[in-house]
Amino acid sequence: MGAERLRGVVALDGPSGTGKSTVARRLARQLKAGYLDTGAMYRAATLAVLRAGLDPSAAAAIPVAVGAVIEVGTDPAEPSVRLGGEDVASEIRGERVTSAVSAVSAHPSVRERLVDEQRRIIGSVLAGDRHGIVVEGRDIGTVVAPDATLKVYLTASAEVRANRRGSQDRRAGRGGDQASALVAVQRRDALDSGRATSPLRPAEDAVILDTTELDVSGVLTALRALAAERGLVEHGQRGHAP
Ligand code: C5P
Repeated sequence: MGAERLRGVVALDGPSGTGKSTVARRLARQLKAGYLDTGAMYRAATLAVLRAGLDPSAAAAIPVAVGAVIEVGTDPAEPSVRLGGEDVASEIRGERVTSAVSAVSAHPSVRERLVDEQRRIIGSVLAGDRHGIVVEGRDIGTVVAPDATLKVYLTASAEVRANRRGSQDRRAGRGGDQASALVAVQRRDALDSGRATSPLRPAEDAVILDTTELDVSGVLTALRALAAERGLVEHGQRGHAP
């Protein structure tokens, strides 16, 4: 059997701790596609605001977040995030950024700026060597790529999501107990779902996939089946777009 490749956009949305990043990266690697972590962009913009010593909810944060020079890599084997040329991949996952990011991402002009950039990145990946991209976030199916052929909204119980986030943090050497992980996950869900501009919600045509009882390979199997069903998987040698 020849190599399988993704053609087109897979939009993966959902709250934190649903396993989005892990499965998005693996799916992209398996199907030789690009990968875009839009959350990393909001996190980098938030770091710029915090480094400037500003309140993330204040209007003064907006020009700093909008003006931040953010570069994200789209190779799923090596995701990278840079702020003003500096590698910030690890710093943006820390508690300081995590607890401030929802406030920064709620500013409409910050979203406008990053959504433009996300669309530009998607366009350039699709025009390049890879013909497909897996994009993960909160508003990919609703705002960033509403024409995506496959939109999946991942969910899981808050307890399971807090567990996953807690183990991720511990693996990365960040402390924290389960109870505070649960409070943090619920707080971020409420902020992301309650904001006025492009709140977290499934697109009308999204497939809802509950990952509470699934491990990573179970989610991947489901996603690959959905991608194949929608005609997004090409087999054998890479052909040229018609
Ligand atoms: O996915 P991740 O946890 O890294 O996202 C961090 C935050 O960035 C989210 O809690 C949300 O506030 C914001 N975000 C967003 N829209 C996206 C991706 C992330 O508002 N498409």
